[in-house]
Amino acid sequence: MQPFDYRSAAPSGLPGSGKVVLVAGGAGFLGSALCGRLLDEGNRVICVDNLLSGDLSNIADYMQHPRICFVLQDIINPLTIAGPVDEIYNMACPASPPRYQRDPIHTIRTCFEGSMTLLRLAAEKGARILLSSTSEIYGDPEITLQHERYRGNVNTVGPRACYDEGKRAAETLFWEYGAHLGAETRIARIFNTYGPRMHPDDGRVVSNFVVQALRGQPLTIYGDGAQTRSFCYVDDMVDGLMRLMASDEKMPVNLGNPGEFTMLELAQTVRDALGKPVEITFRPLPQDDPRQRCPDIARARDLLGWAPKMSLAQGLKPTIGWFTARVQAELRETTMVC
Ligand code: UDP
Repeated sequence: MQPFDYRSAAPSGLPGSGKVVLVAGGAGFLGSALCGRLLDEGNRVICVDNLLSGDLSNIADYMQHPRICFVLQDIINPLTIAGPVDEIYNMACPASPPRYQRDPIHTIRTCFEGSMTLLRLAAEKGARILLSSTSEIYGDPEITLQHERYRGNVNTVGPRACYDEGKRAAETLFWEYGAHLGAETRIARIFNTYGPRMHPDDGRVVSNFVVQALRGQPLTIYGDGAQTRSFCYVDDMVDGLMRLMASDEKMPVNLGNPGEFTMLELAQTVRDALGKPVEITFRPLPQDDPRQRCPDIARARDLLGWAPKMSLAQGLKPTIGWFTARVQAELRETTMVC
């Protein structure tokens, strides 16, 4: 197979002397926000994505930029790049339960085999490499603030296992490469993140609630709504990821917003942000749904000088703006068809 050579990629072969940064999963929700920030800071960006859950519309604004190129590629297949690569972010994998459960074998292969592909590339290039791991590696936690020493409570044979165990195995691979093979590895344990560019039908709770409210539908609460999550705004998360990449820390670091909400409280916050009454309907709780999730971010504070800046109420404003534009476009399309 011919290596991909970004130096001859259209339109201009990534000119300049900035770092060459490869973002796998760069057309996804979080990956595309990261690509934007990397470009803003003068880097040259190779965006790799199989477009399974990512979408070219997420990077459409950047595609005329001379310092980014796009490679359509599934990272479970070998990836060869000609020319130097300085940093690699592994952001590739659907993160929403309905999406990663659609093809569970592909999900676990993306986590494990995809990480192998990128670690091999990093070893060949001498590149620093960061894994987007997840709070899911804690499973259904038995402690209320999850710190990095907590080993988790994960079901290996449930519907979430393809993602949870895939990411756990990926962490082990990264740790082996970092601890024993001299690779410059970084491991970010990402807690629930939201913001513009989430897909309206992503299936996660923030996008579901906002889109349901905008469409005038009842908000679907799974179970009794007493389970908790902590929601981090996307720009804060991107900042944390870049700080971790720039740090010397090889052991896992939690990145998330410690503000903890029940799903009932989230529904209330969405209602307040929209300023209109919304109905609520209750649905069965999915199997193995974690009862609580709240990050201990002491290590991120100490090692990276990082803490999220945006509260949930603040972050919901631009998020609602993003979804409002999408729902209005949907309505226009429906009206035109009628
Ligand atoms: N959830 C909900 N209604 C929805 C979607 C999700 O009540 O329409 C719940 C879900 O059961 C879970 C929480 O919201 O307890 C967060 O779900 P999400 O899929 O966003 O993320 P994850 O479970 O992976 O943290």
